[in-house]
Amino acid sequence: MAACCENNEHDPKAKSVEEALEIILDTSAPLQDSEWLPLDAALDRILARDQRASSPIPAWPNSAMDGYALRAADGDVPRTVVGSSFAGHPFAGSIASGEAIRIMTGAIVPADCDTVVPQEQTERAGDTVRFISAIRAGANIRGVGEDLAPGELALAAGTQLRPSQIGVLASLGLSEIEVFRRLRVAFFSTGDELQPLGRELRAGEIYDSNRHSLLALLRRLGVEAIDLGRLPDDPERIGNTLRHAGESADVIITSGGVSVGEADYIAELLQRQGTVQFWKMNMKPGRPLAYGRIGQADFFGLPGNPVSTIVTFYQFVAPALRKRMGCRAPWTAPRLRLPCAIALKKKPGRTDFQRGQLLQTAEGLQVVPVKAQSSHILTGMAQAECFLILPADAGDLPAGSIVDVQLLEGMV
Ligand code: AMP
Ligand code: MG
Repeated sequence: MAACCENNEHDPKAKSVEEALEIILDTSAPLQDSEWLPLDAALDRILARDQRASSPIPAWPNSAMDGYALRAADGDVPRTVVGSSFAGHPFAGSIASGEAIRIMTGAIVPADCDTVVPQEQTERAGDTVRFISAIRAGANIRGVGEDLAPGELALAAGTQLRPSQIGVLASLGLSEIEVFRRLRVAFFSTGDELQPLGRELRAGEIYDSNRHSLLALLRRLGVEAIDLGRLPDDPERIGNTLRHAGESADVIITSGGVSVGEADYIAELLQRQGTVQFWKMNMKPGRPLAYGRIGQADFFGLPGNPVSTIVTFYQFVAPALRKRMGCRAPWTAPRLRLPCAIALKKKPGRTDFQRGQLLQTAEGLQVVPVKAQSSHILTGMAQAECFLILPADAGDLPAGSIVDVQLLEGMV
């Protein structure tokens, strides 16, 4: 294979980031198989079917405030309090002209009443309630079906079940829910220098950190992560492991051995045992990235430099896995446009994914790159809260330039 070209920024044989992502997403087929789970076991899973309301929510007109339910047409005159309606304990009688009932938030508003006056706007003396301000007809009543009408779509298939979506399904009364099965993602790291954690290192050896980063990334996505361990740079062993994984996994991810060194076998093995879509990209960090298919599995050969492994995972693997898991589009993280507080160094030719931090300033949110931008300095990645995405054709950028930003974390 042609030598990769570290000194030349643009490599004409390499795919652009945009083109690569398009190919990856086009060839990532969503799962079809589903399973039923108890609702509380379905957090972060993907809904397999549209969920519609079978009855209206709310099911009854109910009070939005603690106060008094009455008929507005009687005017602002005092009312006689003839009973009460509490949440879970409706008022059983009827309410005549000049009467009101005490009512609590969430309690049914009787059919005779059309308005709730909040307690703070009333004065109570014995059985009589008077009103401090004018009564607003129709106020403070939550209408039937205001949240969902019968048959209305509550959550669409492909929705990931975050805490609020779990709440919506519970409000529909669903104790079991149909979700897509977990995507099976097998992964392993390659490199003669790699050692397991806890072992004392000899000259030239390093700990196999990538496999742990990858496991953590996969767990966050909610896939079934199949850890195939650490392999030496031995094409036969790597080839056998790839063949086996290609028979059972939906996706295979490797780290290392994907560039053009003497001990880099991944791209060659992919070519021999499967199909290669591409194996180089015009991005920084992470120029070598092999993408293709082995057996029934999609294959990602990620570069071994620890920062490149994580960046390429976030940018290419995560969107592909989201699509394959059955998630609805968009599969990529949203981009904000934010000013960069300092000048940025960049050579034209490759899309740059700089690791950055957010700055809260009086003028609003800004970003700054972290100091360590080399692809072997993992602590730089660990300091990052966001990516600064600089387009391939961009060169150095002055302070204050508006750049594309992707946040690494969302809310819980
Ligand atoms: P490679 O992609 O195999 O050429 O590796 C590029 C760099 O990443 C080398 O410095 C490797 O030692 C390092 N590296 C490869 N695999 C790992 C790993 N699993 N954990 C930490 N560093 C790695
Ligand atoms: Mg290697």
